[in-house]
Amino acid sequence: MPTIVLRGLIFTGTTSIENGSVVVDQSTGMIVDAGKKGDVNEPNDSKVIEVPGSTILPGLIDAHIHFFGSKRYDLLEWLTTPETLVALRSVADARKLLRAGFTAVRDLGSKAAPHLKRAEAEGLFDGPRIVQAAKSLAQTGGDDDIPLLPLKIAEELSYSYYCDGPWECRKAVRKVIRDGGDLIKVYSSGSMAQGTKVRRQFTLEELEAIVDEAGAAGMKVASHAYGEVALTNSVRAGVHSIEHGIGLTQDIVKEMRSQGIFYVPTLSAYLAAKTRVTEERAKLINKHLTEDIELAKQAGVKIVSGTDYVGCDTEPHGENYHEIVNLAKYIGNQEALIAATSRAAECLGLEKSGMVKAGYEADLVVVKGNPMEDTNNLAPSHILHVIRRGKLYTVNGQS
Ligand SMILES: [Zn+2]
Repeated sequence: MPTIVLRGLIFTGTTSIENGSVVVDQSTGMIVDAGKKGDVNEPNDSKVIEVPGSTILPGLIDAHIHFFGSKRYDLLEWLTTPETLVALRSVADARKLLRAGFTAVRDLGSKAAPHLKRAEAEGLFDGPRIVQAAKSLAQTGGDDDIPLLPLKIAEELSYSYYCDGPWECRKAVRKVIRDGGDLIKVYSSGSMAQGTKVRRQFTLEELEAIVDEAGAAGMKVASHAYGEVALTNSVRAGVHSIEHGIGLTQDIVKEMRSQGIFYVPTLSAYLAAKTRVTEERAKLINKHLTEDIELAKQAGVKIVSGTDYVGCDTEPHGENYHEIVNLAKYIGNQEALIAATSRAAECLGLEKSGMVKAGYEADLVVVKGNPMEDTNNLAPSHILHVIRRGKLYTVNGQS
């Protein structure tokens, strides 16, 4: 079997191993052995990669992105960019993500994602593994519904299925299943994309119908939730992850902890340059960047790294390591690395991923420097090699 041996400092996905060795079977794309160099059986004819001062990690995971294939942070542009152009730009974005060390991403609402996932799985382009929600679920008149357009046209252009009442919500879940979605993304509240105020969207009854219908198909639900009402409804309905989670309270984080609900705070999206910044938005975001994350950390909620980048100029795919750097400021370097590897894999339902461990998939990245000391060592300029499906991509290193 053709094998690659990586030698150096390992971050396993939870902890570190000095003088480690990882053996990758290129034909199966699996890790055959990993651990302390002396304990690992390195086949004689392996290709050996050993870069002094580098670190071997599980491939990075961004648990919240959108393949929008648009240049600007602008709702109308997201809805109206021709689908062919979205696809071509998204392929370029997927390549950038892989070369930036990201071997898996979760797309939480886009028109292109189910098709991109299929094309990537067919090996048509080099990119990360794509877990995706297909179109999101939103209420009529939600934040991605442009009121100036006739409803029929808005619905046709939207990256969400509009649904109202429990039975329409169940039907929308069934449409996502038909589209090939891996999970359901629901807008339990509005967002600040249009500069609107924080209001709950969907009722508890609607959210319960969505979670129940998704569950019947073995699918999880990711809930975009701003504000106490939307957060409380989401937690009560039993969603799998809270996205953004602006306005957390003690009661909500306690409930998230006891139900094992993942938390993706998407700090980077709020730190990215935005137009239409209102005073109210600034206040909410300041609280999010300080209190929300602290509450979640103190309660022991499972925090996961996700940028909410859409691929536009101010949120470019390929720069997604920013979330790990931002998280590290609040939860520390090691926890931030866990949030972007083993825990993110758990959130995405990737059972044999996110760890440098025998029997796991060889989705790996080798970076210059030690990200446990400084997470900025995950920047694209530090990526030496990426392995995905057993294939070696040499980015900045020497092959
Ligand atoms: Zn999003």
